[in-house]
Amino acid sequence: MKSRLRLEEVSDPAVLRAMQTVPREEFVPGHLRGAAYDDCALPIACGQTISQPAVVAYMTEQLCLAPGDRVLEVGTGSGYQAAVLAEIVRDVYSIERIPELARAAAARLARLGYANVHVREGDGTQGWPEAAPYDAIMVTAAADDIPPALIAQLDVSGRLIMPVGGSYEAQVLLLLERKTPEEISSRRLWAVRFVPLISG
Ligand code: SAH
Repeated sequence: MKSRLRLEEVSDPAVLRAMQTVPREEFVPGHLRGAAYDDCALPIACGQTISQPAVVAYMTEQLCLAPGDRVLEVGTGSGYQAAVLAEIVRDVYSIERIPELARAAAARLARLGYANVHVREGDGTQGWPEAAPYDAIMVTAAADDIPPALIAQLDVSGRLIMPVGGSYEAQVLLLLERKTPEEISSRRLWAVRFVPLISG
């Protein structure tokens, strides 16, 4: 079943292995299990979505992760992206604003044995300061701008990826890298469609 994932464009072996290891069918609603390995986003509870596998792989690869990294994810959703990250890095801190989704994702990740994923319910635009700084930050919901608190929690040499652009039609992935404490580079990558990042 997993062969339907589009992974030809993934070149980082750790990302490829993670995508082949995480059982996506565990993260989609029961009635959509048959479509779990199609390369498309699928609806989850509360009007949210689990991202398209090709986008999960691409965003993960752009972060250039190392095994010892500590990563912050904003927008836990189903927990699928957090599991993919957790296959590659030491610790994943993931924040979800909808309590029902945060609870379900935490339980699912625990059941699947992802002891290195820490899920918190709350507003991810404020980051997770107690565990900062992070080697990498991934935001899986879109907004006009990158929340300043997240940039502040990025370590030197750290990378941050986030869909930026207000309207659903005009989002692009932005990749930041903190070169020095003061200097941050930025690159525009794929055009994408994500649900909105909601503050507060
Ligand atoms: N990464 C998820 C998909 C996320 S969909 C997965 O792999 O399944 C985007 C998620 O971001 C939604 O669950 C939405 O509730 C959440 N979200 C939106 N605004 C947020 C905020 N300010 N803080 C935390 N989570 C937020």
